[in-house]
Amino acid sequence: MGMMDATARMIDGTSLAEQFKAQIRQRVAVLQSQGRPVRLDAMLVGGADSPGAIYARNQAKTCLEVGIDYHLHELTNAATEDDILGRVLLLNANEDVRAIMMHLPLPDGVDTERIQSMIAVEKDVEGVNPANIGKVVYGRRSLVPCTALAVMEMIESTGVKLEGACAVCVGASNIVGKPVAVLLMRAQATVISTNVHTQDLDGLVRSADIVVSAAGVPNLVRGDMIKPGAIVIDVGINRVKGEDGQMHTVGDVAFDEVSQVAGYISPVPGGVGPVTVAMMLRNTVEAAERLGG
Ligand code: NAD
Repeated sequence: MGMMDATARMIDGTSLAEQFKAQIRQRVAVLQSQGRPVRLDAMLVGGADSPGAIYARNQAKTCLEVGIDYHLHELTNAATEDDILGRVLLLNANEDVRAIMMHLPLPDGVDTERIQSMIAVEKDVEGVNPANIGKVVYGRRSLVPCTALAVMEMIESTGVKLEGACAVCVGASNIVGKPVAVLLMRAQATVISTNVHTQDLDGLVRSADIVVSAAGVPNLVRGDMIKPGAIVIDVGINRVKGEDGQMHTVGDVAFDEVSQVAGYISPVPGGVGPVTVAMMLRNTVEAAERLGG
């Protein structure tokens, strides 16, 4: 680090994801050869028009690519919390089911956290059950939230030494910012977790060797906030209207500016997104491996 490059090196999420998928495909094949097919059971509440539906279709395709059987369990928007919970408990009890994920959002009035906390810990491939988060904190074997895993893999792909590095996480949600901060702490980095109330965000980010932004705010991280040579991981996914009048997907990082200063930068799209999908598949294989024959 500290190397002054005119332009940052790209952390290419699409190509990293392909590498992970190749490894996952092999692990699936090993299990299959032992008569242990790998499957992912996903729940979608709200039917074909729900926001999760597009995600579910892509998921089916990606699972197929690596040899994972995909089972989608659909409930209509009229489903009650008890209906959804009942379905989760059935999947928990089914020995053929090894990996469960829940597409969000759930209908208004449904307590999402309550549902998530009922997913069997060993089948919770999104790492949303609080018991899994607890294990992440303690560094025990667990299923780690997929986006946080993706961020760590992308940081590690640069070969950076995490011990002693200063890392600033922008955003502290339960599903991204907090688990990323914990994983960085576990790797012995010095971690600063920031949120919307943080004072002098600019100054803190300027001290960082590693910046992870998961705030959901376009252009939050500017070029003049970046220590030369720093690693910048952009988790944000924001839809904004461009100069051409069209809608575009951008991250939290002002890419053109920051890539002039940073050592490494992950783009949006084509960064954290595809690696997150690969991590979900990896957690699925891992859940299947751990449950034994
Ligand atoms: P969230 O809305 O739950 O949390 C946002 C966090 O950012 C909060 O802690 C908030 O305090 C903080 N924040 C907001 N404005 C800030 C500011 N100006 N300065 C500092 N902190 C600020 O968000 P989330 O679910 O963690 O998602 C964050 C972003 O990441 C969103 O754009 C989301 O779409 C994206 N996301 C991407 C992936 C992926 O796979 N690439 C996965 C999950 C979320």
